[in-house]
Amino acid sequence: MEFATFADRAGTIDDEAADLEIVTHVRDLLADAGDDTDEGAEPQTLELVARFAQGRVFPAWDSTTLDIGPSACYEAIARAAGTNISADDVEDRLAEVGEIGDVAASYDFGGQQGLSAFTGGGVGGDDDLTVREVYETLEDLAHAEGSGSQDRKVDLLFGLFNRCSSEEARYLARIVLSEMRIGVGEGTVRDAIAAAFDVPEDRVERALQVSNDYGRVARIARDEGREGLDAMDLEVGRPVQAMLAQAGTVTDALEEWEEAAVEWKYDGARIQLHYEPGGSESAETRVFSRNMEEVTDALPEVVEFADGTLEGPAILDGEVVAIDEDGSPLPFQEVLKRFRRKHDVAKAREDVTVRPVFFDCLHADGEDLLAEPLTTRHDRLRSVLAGSGGDTDAVDDEDVEGLSLLWLTDDPDEIESIDADALEGGHEGIMLKDPDSTYSPGRRGKHWRKRKPDVETLDCVVTGAEWGEGRRATFLGTFELSVQAGDDLETVGKVATGITDDKLAELTELLEPHIATEDGQDVDIEPAVVFEVGYEEIQSSPTYSSGYALRFPRFQGVRHDKDPADADSLERVERLRSV
Ligand code: AMP
Repeated sequence: MEFATFADRAGTIDDEAADLEIVTHVRDLLADAGDDTDEGAEPQTLELVARFAQGRVFPAWDSTTLDIGPSACYEAIARAAGTNISADDVEDRLAEVGEIGDVAASYDFGGQQGLSAFTGGGVGGDDDLTVREVYETLEDLAHAEGSGSQDRKVDLLFGLFNRCSSEEARYLARIVLSEMRIGVGEGTVRDAIAAAFDVPEDRVERALQVSNDYGRVARIARDEGREGLDAMDLEVGRPVQAMLAQAGTVTDALEEWEEAAVEWKYDGARIQLHYEPGGSESAETRVFSRNMEEVTDALPEVVEFADGTLEGPAILDGEVVAIDEDGSPLPFQEVLKRFRRKHDVAKAREDVTVRPVFFDCLHADGEDLLAEPLTTRHDRLRSVLAGSGGDTDAVDDEDVEGLSLLWLTDDPDEIESIDADALEGGHEGIMLKDPDSTYSPGRRGKHWRKRKPDVETLDCVVTGAEWGEGRRATFLGTFELSVQAGDDLETVGKVATGITDDKLAELTELLEPHIATEDGQDVDIEPAVVFEVGYEEIQSSPTYSSGYALRFPRFQGVRHDKDPADADSLERVERLRSV
C-alpha cells in the first residue's frame, strides 16, 4: 500500500465525527491493506496499517521506541522544506498553528534533491513512498545507536519527509511524534478488525487482550479466522495491559457481591513479572511497568527474587514497594527513585531497597489463567510462590514470601479491621475485588475497587471510649463520636480505624483526664476533645442518638484548634447525607 493511500484514508477518518462511520472507514482501510500482496514480508502491510492508524510504529508490548525528540523532528521537517527554513521556523509555526500535522502539511517538500540519497530511495516525487518503506526507515531510525545516532535519525527522517506530499507529511509527523489523534482508539480497531475479516468482536477482544498486538490480531483474523484468534495465548516475555481499579465503597462492594476479596493496597509501583526457566542456561526474568515499559535492569531485587523462588514459567502481577531496614514500607516517592533508573543501579540500591509483592497470577506452567476466577488465580499464585517442594497447605500465607494476602469476607467490621491493619502497616488502604471476576487486561472496571478516599470530613466531639484488650489494654480505643444538636451532643458513630499504637498512646494521654465514668471496659468522656473523622457515607440508623451513623469512620487527626462548641452540627450531618 502506498503511504499516500494511507494518508488519504487517515484524512477521511480525521474529518469524520461519527464513531460508527469511523469504524467503517477503518474496516475498509484494513480490508484493503489486507489485500496487499506482500506475501512473505514481515511484518505484513496489514499489521503496519493497523498500528499506524493508532499512531504506533511498534506493537504495544514492544518496548522499542523511535527515541527521537520533537526538536529532531522539526529539524528534519525544516531541512526537507527548504534551505531557508530552520527548525526554529517550524517551531514558531507550531506555536501559531498548534498541531504538528498541520505544520508539516503547510510546507512544500521534495525539492532537496541532492540530499535525498539518505533513504536509499529515489528523489522526492519520482517514486511513491509505501507504508512498508516508511516502517522500514522508522525501524532503522529506532535502532540507530551510538555516537552520531541522533544525526543519523534526523537524516533518515529528512529522507522520508523529502519524499512526502503535504498530506503524507501531515500523518508522518503525527506518527513520529505519537500524536495521531484521528479518533481511532483501541475499540475502533477491534470493531474494524471484526467487520473486515468477519470474525466475532468478543474473539478479537480476547485475542487483543492476550497478545497486546493489534497488527498480529488483524493478520490472524484475516489468515486463520476465529479458530486462529482462539488459539492465541499469552506469551511469557510479552507484557499484557494491567487490570485497573476504580474508586468504590465497601458498602457498594458488599451489596453487589456475596463476599468481597479484600487485599492491602500497597503504596508502590505496579510491576508485571515474566519468568521463563532457562533449562541449562540461566533463567530469564523480565519486569515491566504499568505502561509495559521494561524496567528489569532497574530492579535487580525483583530478578533475584524470581530466580530464587520460581520454578516454572509464570506471569505475575504485583507492586514493587520501597522498604526501610526493618522491612516496613516507605512512601511511594522512594520507589520512584529506583523505578526507571538506568545508571548506577547498584548505588541506588544501596540508598533504597525494594521488594515485590504479587497479588495476581496470569499464567503458570504453560497455562493461561485470565479466564479463571480471582480466587483460583490467587491459589495458583500462592503455590507458584510457595514452590513445589513440600505441602504448600502446611505453610501460612503470611510465610509465603512475596504473596499479597487475601481475605474473603462479607463482614463490614472485618473489612474495617483489615483496613486498620493496612494503614497501621504503612500501606495505602485496601482494595476490594470481586472474588469471581476474571482478569480483564487494561480494564478499569467495577471488579477491582480501591476504597474511595474520604472526601468530606466531620469534626466530632469524643464522648466515650473503650479500654483495649491484650497488647492494647492500657490504651483507650473505639472512640464514641458526637455532634452538636442545639445545646446537646448526639452520637453518630464510633471510630477505631486509622490509628497506630503510638497514636493510641497519645490519645489516651489526652483523653484520660476527661474520663467521667467507667463501667468495665466502657468509659464516658466529658466533651473536651475534637476528632476530625473521615467516612464513606452517612446512613440513617437507630443505633445512635442522632438517628444517623457514619459508615466506615476513620480517624484523621485531633483538632487541637477546636473546642467542643466548634464541632460540627447535626444540621451539617443531615446536609452531607443528602449530597
Ligand atoms: P490507583 O493507582 O490509585 O488507580 O490504584 C490502583 C493501583 O494500586 C494499581 O495499579 C496497583 O499499582 C496498586 N495496588 C496496590 N496494591 C494492590 C492490590 N492489592 N491489588 C491491585 N492493585 C494494587
